[in-house]
Amino acid sequence: MIYSWQKTQWQQITQLLVTERLPHALLLHGNQGLGKADFAKALASSVLCEQPTKDYQACGECRACNLLAANTHPDMHFLEPTVSAGSKSKNPVLNIRIDEIRNLCQKLNQTSQFSGYRVAILDQADQLTLSAANSLLKTLEEPGQKVLLILVTARTYRLPVTIRSRCQSIRFNMPDEQTALQWLKQNNPQAENAVTYSDQQRQQALNLAFGSPLTGLKHLQDMEYQQLLSEALTASISGKNSLQYAAKLAKHSKIKTLEGLLSWASDLTRLAACGTECKIINELHRKPLQKLSQKVNKQRLYRFQDQLNFNILHSSIAVNEQLLWENLLLSWDNL
Ligand SMILES: [Zn+2]
Repeated sequence: MIYSWQKTQWQQITQLLVTERLPHALLLHGNQGLGKADFAKALASSVLCEQPTKDYQACGECRACNLLAANTHPDMHFLEPTVSAGSKSKNPVLNIRIDEIRNLCQKLNQTSQFSGYRVAILDQADQLTLSAANSLLKTLEEPGQKVLLILVTARTYRLPVTIRSRCQSIRFNMPDEQTALQWLKQNNPQAENAVTYSDQQRQQALNLAFGSPLTGLKHLQDMEYQQLLSEALTASISGKNSLQYAAKLAKHSKIKTLEGLLSWASDLTRLAACGTECKIINELHRKPLQKLSQKVNKQRLYRFQDQLNFNILHSSIAVNEQLLWENLLLSWDNL
């Protein structure tokens, strides 16, 4: 699927296709939530399709397209980070490992089943282990005829230079706010009770996603959780005990709640420093945030943010999450 904010990149690629200058390795990079992996899949479909349209999109009807739709095309390979077998951690580290890369390279070395391209997409390629990245180098240097490797990442800096330098780089930029909001409106998900989301909720979701439309969509579909978080963080204003929310928060992803808390803490910092007119992330909750900003102690607020950043940095370490949320909610109430 090509999104409205990816047209320039699509034209860039199709120009290379028309002139038969498509390189054997591409690095699609840019912020998270811009649909780079979907773009990679659309490109893979386009080169594997037996009768692509005039603008080089896959026809969706030929034998190759049908196999792609069923995820059974023998010349299409997709790798993404997975958990190591046997890992029991609740917050496991995800990797693309050397055995997976060796297996992939072996397949790419074989002749194409359809006498066309052999394509591999490596999504979140920055999660390649060092040995896996080294193992990929030889194929990147001598890929053979009609091999297309598409690496996708939001964190280019984590890829070894040896990998980056062997790929042609295609950058994806953030769409402007109106384009992103319009897309969210057109892809209007419905709440469970079939209530359509409001413009304010779409804006809030996009703010939380720092402008990335696909991440914004995830936040929009997660409004029930947003409601839980706001109840926990505004409990003290309405004279309730916020600690009762610790167990409920512990049922959700740790990193999501830590980032949610950080967005509220950042808003408090802005309101306390710049006054009530400034732009904030949690616009939907401006009123309670303004109330909290009037009594906040800046020193304690900065320490609270440090505490959150520390926990985000070490989020893969297993902790008792109920205790963690009790601790953080207590600090929040006493800011
Ligand atoms: Zn087709």
